[in-house]
Amino acid sequence: MRQYNETEKNRLEQMASDYRSFLDAGKTERECAANICAIARAHGFRDLDEILEKGESLKAGDKIYAVNMKKAVLLMQIGQESLEKGMNLIGSHIDSPRLDIKQNPVYENSGLAYLDTHYYGGIKKYQWVASPMALHGTVVRTDGTVLELSIGEKDEDPVVGITDLLVHLSGKQMDKKGSTVIEGEALDLLVGSYAVDDKEEKEPVKAFLLKVLKEKYGMEEKDFVSAELEVVPAGRARDFGLDGSMIMAYGQDDRICAFTSLMAFLDAENSQRTNVCLFVDKEEIGSVGATGMQSRFLENTLAEVLNCLGQYSELALRRALKNSTMLSADVNAGYDPLYADAFEKNNAAYVGKGAVISKYTGSRGKSGSNDASAEFLGSLRRAFDADDIQYQTAELGKIDVGGGGTIAYITAAYGMDVVDLGVPILNMHAPYEVSSKADVYETYRCYKTFFQMGK
Ligand code: MN
Ligand code: MN
Repeated sequence: MRQYNETEKNRLEQMASDYRSFLDAGKTERECAANICAIARAHGFRDLDEILEKGESLKAGDKIYAVNMKKAVLLMQIGQESLEKGMNLIGSHIDSPRLDIKQNPVYENSGLAYLDTHYYGGIKKYQWVASPMALHGTVVRTDGTVLELSIGEKDEDPVVGITDLLVHLSGKQMDKKGSTVIEGEALDLLVGSYAVDDKEEKEPVKAFLLKVLKEKYGMEEKDFVSAELEVVPAGRARDFGLDGSMIMAYGQDDRICAFTSLMAFLDAENSQRTNVCLFVDKEEIGSVGATGMQSRFLENTLAEVLNCLGQYSELALRRALKNSTMLSADVNAGYDPLYADAFEKNNAAYVGKGAVISKYTGSRGKSGSNDASAEFLGSLRRAFDADDIQYQTAELGKIDVGGGGTIAYITAAYGMDVVDLGVPILNMHAPYEVSSKADVYETYRCYKTFFQMGK
């Protein structure tokens, strides 16, 4: 780790504290998107929908935000230069691995009430049992009213969780492969054990649970059909390590890059070029659907903006995209000496050694990767070095050990220069992930420098 002076140390600690608050305020993509919008509004950004509704025009210097189905957000600061010349774009994702409640989830078994779940994203299922979980999400009732839930975060809230078999009886379980120690269908959430006082009732514990849901939340069993409820680890982001140098929290992949890019976007000074900060959903399941990076949200929003600027044409839109440069802001694996076998030491990212640039991701022979251009990397290297930023380069583990992808290849298809740049993480996709405060700070600095660059 580099040595920081007092001023830098204070800045770094303040940023870490703001980051923890950001994580606590957004443990689902919806919560995170709402929080980003609130922060944007507080910084003078206006809702694009409102501008469109009023038929207003846009001009250089305007600051706007657009929201996609409450799960993805785009922030834009319009520059003096024509939008056709391109944008400086940073894109991260605000969805994280978790357990989703199924649409018909409630059942009773042996005097216990459960909610059945379906896991979302890549998880080691055995990590998600025997620990306190919270329930976050949105329920749309039959009458159309909406219920926003967050249960398990306040001290006075109950938590929920998934049980594991006691070690005394686990001889057979312990002989299983890691991938089957806990099966997907065994990830059922224990949520109740009281029963209604009614001898006629065949499922008295389930009946009691439904009564609680009805009385406390005005929710019926059938309302689960039109609900998006997510089970996430309960509790707040914490300082980690006896020296407090790190942060442990749920969902740092990829809200750590969402936070640092947002802060950099708000702090950057660049009146020339248009800056865009993008936060998308569904990265963990392949960037699919209406709110994933593969949707037309970026393109459509840009078309609306060009139209409000009086510059819209199909060609202008294509040029704006093609002439842009982008940092795909996502995490990479931090080198873990306890699992040294999975890494190639000279091309691994080290926690505490700064932001990590990944020229390519993918698996096997770079399959599925966006392979960033040497020229683009050269321009970034010059800019980061000029600002004395600490960064490193890495691949995601040893060749043929595994792999992974980000949103980089999707926007690269427009013909823009894109490279992955983010924070190295330990325990990635585990209920609690670990990052270094210094890396948060250096990554913020990379993003800020990028937002201040010309083409
Ligand atoms: Mn990610
Ligand atoms: Mn991920």
